[in-house]
Amino acid sequence: MDRAATVGGRVHSIALGTTPVDAGASHVWSFYSRTRWWIQRLGLGAALVPAGGLGSLGIAATDLPGIVRAGLDVARLWRRLDFRSPQRAAPFDRASIRDYASRHLSAQLTSSAVVPSFEWNAFCSLSEMSQVLLLQGGRLFLRARPYRMRGGLQLFPEALARGLDLRLGSRFATRSLAFGPGGAVAKLADGSSILCAAVVVATGPGEAADLAEFAPSLDRFLRGVAHSTVVREWWNLPGRRAFRNEPLRLSFGVSSEGVAVARPAGDALFLSLALYGRAVREMGSEEVDSAMEQLRIGLLLGSTPGQPMTRARFRWDSAVTIFAPGHFRQLDQLVPSRPQGRVVLAGDYLVSPTVEGAVLSGERAAAEVMRLPILER
Ligand SMILES: Cc1cc2nc3c(=O)[nH]c(=O)nc-3n(C[C@H](O)[C@H](O)[C@H](O)COP(=O)(O)OP(=O)(O)OC[C@H]3O[C@@H](n4cnc5c(N)ncnc54)[C@H](O)[C@@H]3O)c2cc1C
Repeated sequence: MDRAATVGGRVHSIALGTTPVDAGASHVWSFYSRTRWWIQRLGLGAALVPAGGLGSLGIAATDLPGIVRAGLDVARLWRRLDFRSPQRAAPFDRASIRDYASRHLSAQLTSSAVVPSFEWNAFCSLSEMSQVLLLQGGRLFLRARPYRMRGGLQLFPEALARGLDLRLGSRFATRSLAFGPGGAVAKLADGSSILCAAVVVATGPGEAADLAEFAPSLDRFLRGVAHSTVVREWWNLPGRRAFRNEPLRLSFGVSSEGVAVARPAGDALFLSLALYGRAVREMGSEEVDSAMEQLRIGLLLGSTPGQPMTRARFRWDSAVTIFAPGHFRQLDQLVPSRPQGRVVLAGDYLVSPTVEGAVLSGERAAAEVMRLPILER
């Protein structure tokens, strides 16, 4: 059951004219072993194509001492930086990436490599993310190659869900979960109830906390997890092949920022713009329009009046799950994917703020459900 009209949650593809673009998750990395296993198994392997992108990180010779220092930290903590078992990194979850960078890395390395790798992907600032993410990234970096799915990544959850008894749409939103001797009772928005032997709650953390009564420490954790906000827009500009072929970051005031990436698509310029930061949450559509226009003009070094183009926009008020300093320590203490009564939690916030994290959490939840004793009715 999902309250949305389509499967996939934050894996969601929309149309830019006739071209599918990813409004949510777009990149599947080479180290996503479970996701890639499922993609192969579902017959989608041929649609997964290299995405490029690492070439844009500008690293200078003067950055080498910082890289070596961080590399030594990663080597020392190697076994604890397993992003499949995030709780193992709990002892190092004591500061933000910004704090780590200011102690160990040069400002140039931070702005040319760390910001593009983390802020531009998580749509929040380095001070909001735990340094564990940076150290885990250091362990994964050598085998990190990005892929995207031709036709849009939503093909993946759609294929995963094929053949299941799906109920989609707002009337199937779960309103509450209650527990009794016969199992769990899910109350739905349309007023109906379903008796289940067990329930996997794979909503966001805040929504999970609203559905059932969990232990106070777990409830506090679930309600404390934050998400970044992003408005993404795509432009297809025919006849604009000449452009500055690098990602561009522009600042809009203190807390609202944007990132733009351009790539050629046939004889057109394909532009992907993102506005993020706390202020975006407050922005109305006119402010978004004008900030997007500034981003676009900044990238193209001029406006393009009267030019034919296609564009598409999507807004996420809860975009990427923020693994803030302290998140990993709480995971270590809570082990929240263990059953809570006949309810098991799943979601990226339990493993890693990625598609792979969501897939792994789902596999673990399924395994926990299979272990629950069978109820006599
Ligand atoms: C803009 C953007 C870019 C991203 N880029 C990447 C990327 O390139 N690579 C990557 O790996 N990850 C990326 N991510 C992160 C990735 O999308 C998420 O980590 C992952 O999809 C989370 O999956 P999930 O199943 O935990 O949560 P979700 O996908 O959010 O699923 C939760 C589901 O619960 C449903 N729901 C909530 N409440 C209820 C209720 N009461 N009743 C019924 N249903 C309910 C929702 O409708 C939703 O479908 C990106 C995310 C965004 C937003």
